[in-house]
Amino acid sequence: MIESSYRAGREGHRLPDQISLLNLIPLEDLQQLQDALAEMGGVKSVITDPDGNRLTMTSNDSPICELIRQSESADDGCLKHDRAIANQIRIDKKPAFRHVEPLGIIKAAVPILVHDRHLANWWIARVCDERVDKEKVFGYAQQLGLDGETLWRELAKCPQGTEADFKKVLAWINNLAGQITLLGFQNLVLSQDLSKLQRLEGELDQYKTELERLVQERTAELIRTNKRLQLEVLERDLAEEQIVRKSKLLDAINRVLQQILTDRSEHALASTCLQAAQSLTESPFGFMAEKSESQWRVVAMQAAGDPVKGQAEQADRSLFNDLWRHMVHGNEPVMLTSGDQTADWQPFPEGFPEVKTLLAVPLPKQTGVSGFIALANNPNGYALVDRYDIETLTGIFVEALLRKRNEQAMNLNERRLNLALDSADEGLWDYLPQVGQIYFSPRWFSMLGYEAGELPSSMETWNTLAHPEDVAFLKDTFGKIISGANEAFQIELRMLGQGGQWRWVQVRGRSVERDARGAALRILGTLIDIGKYKQVELALQKANEELQRLAALDDLTQIANRRRFDERLAEEWRRARRDGTYLAVVLCDIDFFKLYNDTYGHVKGDEALRAVAQAISGTLKRPMDLVARYGGEEFAIVLPNTDLQGAALVAGEVRAAVTALKMLHPASHVHEYVSLSFGVAAMIPANTVSAKTLVELADKALYRAKAQGRNQIVEWQRKAETTSEDAD
Ligand code: GH3
Ligand code: MG
Ligand code: MG
Repeated sequence: MIESSYRAGREGHRLPDQISLLNLIPLEDLQQLQDALAEMGGVKSVITDPDGNRLTMTSNDSPICELIRQSESADDGCLKHDRAIANQIRIDKKPAFRHVEPLGIIKAAVPILVHDRHLANWWIARVCDERVDKEKVFGYAQQLGLDGETLWRELAKCPQGTEADFKKVLAWINNLAGQITLLGFQNLVLSQDLSKLQRLEGELDQYKTELERLVQERTAELIRTNKRLQLEVLERDLAEEQIVRKSKLLDAINRVLQQILTDRSEHALASTCLQAAQSLTESPFGFMAEKSESQWRVVAMQAAGDPVKGQAEQADRSLFNDLWRHMVHGNEPVMLTSGDQTADWQPFPEGFPEVKTLLAVPLPKQTGVSGFIALANNPNGYALVDRYDIETLTGIFVEALLRKRNEQAMNLNERRLNLALDSADEGLWDYLPQVGQIYFSPRWFSMLGYEAGELPSSMETWNTLAHPEDVAFLKDTFGKIISGANEAFQIELRMLGQGGQWRWVQVRGRSVERDARGAALRILGTLIDIGKYKQVELALQKANEELQRLAALDDLTQIANRRRFDERLAEEWRRARRDGTYLAVVLCDIDFFKLYNDTYGHVKGDEALRAVAQAISGTLKRPMDLVARYGGEEFAIVLPNTDLQGAALVAGEVRAAVTALKMLHPASHVHEYVSLSFGVAAMIPANTVSAKTLVELADKALYRAKAQGRNQIVEWQRKAETTSEDAD
């Protein structure tokens, strides 16, 4: 036993180059051992290093050596013996002894070898009484020039005994040296292991700190990413608001356009434009004024949706001049928000609405038309976007006006579209289904990366560019608006851009003219690039899916967790109730798992849980089956469309699969391997019971399986069926 641990230890441990016996065994212990042995064995004793330097104090010392050392030649003789013994030991690595004549002294030493390294010699000496001859001693004293009596007396004080006893003592010490060797080595191993352990602990601490840092970093990053996504979604919402706004502008433009097509009076045109501008900016009050030959003329005025006639002429013209000067000199529209001092320039006498907030925009100057449009009393005041929209609208209005006035032949349609496009980052299209023509604006083309007019002006162009998966949807959408089933639409689809990549676009459309049967004559709409938002949306969707997946997983086993189980059970319960089909639940619990942990520790326990979880989920074949970790060492399985018999069959397969893992469980009272007990329940859900009942029944059955001896499957409605051996 000792031998084998000694050898085993040799593999991984090494003696340091500079080592003394005292590094392995404390001096005090060594000294005590040496003293006790010298006392018991009746010998003088000391431990030295292999070169003879003392490590311990001499036990049972006597003055004889000092006496002898007074004579140089005697001392030499004595040292010669010591050296001879030490040399012999160095070579043989075995105990050696010598007689020192004629004093009858016998000296011996035993090597102490640790891990094959010669670390020390243990010396003993005694006088062998049967060899001492008084006459020879006296003669020797004379030879050394010492007093014979004194030498004889001192010799008598030395430890005495027979040579045979001495040899016995030598044998003990040799034996003991062997033990010391082992003890020394074990001490060394322990100390090396300890320092290795300390080093490892240090490293572990470092890893832990690093891990914590990483976790913190990842968390912070996740939070940052989430914030960014939220921001982008916010941006998108803002952009969508703008889209709504732009489509309102389009509606307004469209109304002006229709006027051009149907009514030729200037007054009607101005009224329509004013109305559209008011509705676009939510202004209850508005008017349009034109200056010709230094005279101001109110061309249209509306309050709360009704034209204001007659009295308009009573408006204070000098105030129109003030307003005009502001716009012309400041080269800017006038924007007054609530709380500004408006009393100074109220342009209208009593009886007219009081102006509280105002946006006044000049008509485009280059056209030679002098005038402005004023919109008033939006309770929220006006913003820049109102101004830009009104500028676009007035641009179209003036163009139409000029056309009327000059009767110039020009393609007004196209010009107003291009004008609108300058201010809105959206493509426009104008579709005449009955003629079979569609106009795509330059921006419509450039948004997809094409040159203006590069592709034919037909609906076929659109259908060809749409993603194959979106074509049917696009055709259907247009079909519905043409037939009159829908008035307007807003869809998102992918279209083929120049260079071959798919681009996400949003298309809005509205029918603006219908024939007597209700079929669309004309549909107007926009196209905008929503690639960026789509990307954000998809990334967000992915992130959410991942989050949901993680939230539904059990950390340890990576199968569904209890939350997921409860959700699925509720879903399947509803479905089964609706369809009138069976739903089954199997609960299973590892037998004597506490004892398993006690035997192998929690880490192995966790491994076993993972293995069991994998075995169960590997057994389930149908995609709708779900296994979840229900509790510590308890698993729950939902089996849709499965009756009791079927569920018991599945439980049997699970049981066989777990047994087949052959996970030794010596502490189990029921099986040599890890085993499970099962409770099975199934029913067609009735309106009067809940899914909880089904789980409770399975739990009761499981309880019975445990009570009846474990490692078995119990179905809730029957008496226990012991099948404990058939899975083996
Ligand atoms: P029975 O056959 O009656 O089910 O005996 P049992 O020991 O399995 O049951 P008990 O409920 O007394 O103990 C369940 C044990 O499962 C307690 C705990 O040590 C162990 N356990 C629960 N969760 C975990 C876990 O996550 N990891 C590990 N290793 N053990 C767990
Ligand atoms: Mg258990
Ligand atoms: Mg349990």
